[in-house]
Amino acid sequence: MAELKNEEQFALMREAGLIVARTLELLRGEVKEGVTTARLDALAEDSIRSQGAVPSFKGYGGGHGAPAFPAVICASVNNEIVHGIPGDYALRDGDIVSIDCGAIYQGWHGDSAITVACGEIDPAVAELMRVTEESMWQGIAAIKAGERLNNIGRAIQSYVRTQGMYGIVEGYGGHGIGSQMHMDPMIYNHRTLDRGPKMQVGMALAIEPMLMLGHKQTAELDDGWTVVTRDGSSSAHFEHTVALTEQGLWVTTAFDGGKAELGRLGVPVHP
Ligand code: MG
Ligand code: MG
Repeated sequence: MAELKNEEQFALMREAGLIVARTLELLRGEVKEGVTTARLDALAEDSIRSQGAVPSFKGYGGGHGAPAFPAVICASVNNEIVHGIPGDYALRDGDIVSIDCGAIYQGWHGDSAITVACGEIDPAVAELMRVTEESMWQGIAAIKAGERLNNIGRAIQSYVRTQGMYGIVEGYGGHGIGSQMHMDPMIYNHRTLDRGPKMQVGMALAIEPMLMLGHKQTAELDDGWTVVTRDGSSSAHFEHTVALTEQGLWVTTAFDGGKAELGRLGVPVHP
């Protein structure tokens, strides 16, 4: 059963979402040649804590011999898809870095990711980033009370197929969110035979397509977290947290709540 939120709880999720949005905007401006992913992580921690929130990734998971996530952001460079661990790696001109960030404000979560180019990048990689971000908006636009959850994955996949032969990640995807970061339901970035439960007002969903330039096969590194493309091709990742309210969608991790992008797609947005 999905957790249903009231307007007051959504308002707190909006605060958490804005904290994440400000943090990602700060990091976007810091992506340049020579900057280490550990430096981005330190900036993110300062940003989140100085806004009265708590980073949600640090210490997440683990147990049964597996390590908990050790950092505030996931920083996944080039062929890394998700869950990259920040460290000594210094960004180079031509790299892309996917930055995933989560924060908890008064018990409520925001979760968002962007992929950022460092300097001049290959045009095919730039196009991968564009298609990935747009596929996220196409997925968000498919969120509608009374419709089946897998409409989201169908919308993402349908859009991506019109754009080229991109790999769509399987086994990692979006999720319900609210009083915890990862909640039911799982949200696939592709069609599934099971069309899923009906979406309803009160749900909050994190939509997060990950696309690859090459094949969809993935591998996990020995650090127990980092997921990479098996063929070494580049990968991009975009994510927003979305509240399904009585008055329309509310993209809690977008500064404008999603008004510009969803307006373009003809979707009602929370005022
Ligand atoms: Mg995330
Ligand atoms: Mg997420």
